[in-house]
Amino acid sequence: MKSGADLLPGEVAAGPLRERLQAARRVVVKVGSQVLCQPNGAVDAAVVTGLSADVAAARADGRQIVLVSSGAVALGRGRRARGLAGTPAGDGMGKQALAALGQPLLMARWQDAFEVHATQVAQILLTHADLGHRGRFLHARRVMAELLDAGVLPIVNENDTVAVEELGFGDNDQLAAMVAHVVGADALVLLTEVDALYTADPRTDGRARRYAAADPRHDAVLAGAGAGTSHFGTGGMHSKVLAARKAAAVGVVTVVAAGKLAGMLGRVLAGAAEGTVFRPAAHGLTGRRSWIATSARPKGTLQVDAGAARALRSGGASLLPIGVVCVDGSFGVGDVVAVIDGDGQPIGRGRVRYGADDARKVAGLRSDRIAAVLGWLPATELVHRDDFVVAG
Ligand code: GLU
Repeated sequence: MKSGADLLPGEVAAGPLRERLQAARRVVVKVGSQVLCQPNGAVDAAVVTGLSADVAAARADGRQIVLVSSGAVALGRGRRARGLAGTPAGDGMGKQALAALGQPLLMARWQDAFEVHATQVAQILLTHADLGHRGRFLHARRVMAELLDAGVLPIVNENDTVAVEELGFGDNDQLAAMVAHVVGADALVLLTEVDALYTADPRTDGRARRYAAADPRHDAVLAGAGAGTSHFGTGGMHSKVLAARKAAAVGVVTVVAAGKLAGMLGRVLAGAAEGTVFRPAAHGLTGRRSWIATSARPKGTLQVDAGAARALRSGGASLLPIGVVCVDGSFGVGDVVAVIDGDGQPIGRGRVRYGADDARKVAGLRSDRIAAVLGWLPATELVHRDDFVVAG
């Protein structure tokens, strides 16, 4: 056991977190393209075989697993490059089209691999926008629960073809964190091409030290992970720590571990000292507030004055129109917006009780003036405290 003085910034005790992994009943496992595929875009058969055996073993242990698998773009690209008899080879297709080409190949590989373990798989394609819609989020939750209860293994990927945003690296890390929230997982395992989080890139910096366990909300932990797509691979450690933060907000423990090593999932779930474990919040958000914190994408921004900023940050306050300085974006009643202070620093996110047009009209007004301006009073609060989550 390390003493406080030996701990790295943001490092926490690993023991209790490893125990939580051992006890985890519902687990989301995410495997990235770099782990699953070889550089030429062909599937790494050993990884598929090994991971499907690991997942089957975890299920035989009484755990419920949801697999989040990347690889559609890589497989699509590999298929194009190899060509088919009678069709032109070559790339020349956008990533979203390549994903459409590769997704059935990806599922076919998983299906074959899990058939060996007498495991039925189901494909679920989701977008961030789907999960940002409360109704669709709840629907996805119901269907996933139904599949899990029926003993089926759901395999999730982003529905790249219809995702509005251009496919970005690390998207599936965030998606996996959201899926962990959708299914009410106990743990999220991110299988990646590096074995853990370090204070610096261990391949180039001999002084780099490994985190056994970390608090993902600690700034030093995110800083150590490097910005954007570092040398650490596709999504980079940065995106893994952000995913761990999201999971932490809803009480889910996250592990980052080396995905190419056979048996890794089993060791992680047995509580072995593998990878880096990320500590969740002591009191994870629940219900609608957890959805606001992790899944919803803000449709606008409310900038508030210093008094409102203080009240919101200290927790438990609602945002009244009088505290709002500026309204940005186009949103309707019930949408989620970001709330920022006068310096543009984030305060949190909340679900609005006014549409954007009305919010603009009442910004800065005392509550007793609202009915006169709008002709009616939609609500006393612009954002009620039950619908507000302070940024983590
Ligand atoms: N959905 C993409 C794919 O299947 C991957 C996105 C990511 O790696 O984050 O290729």
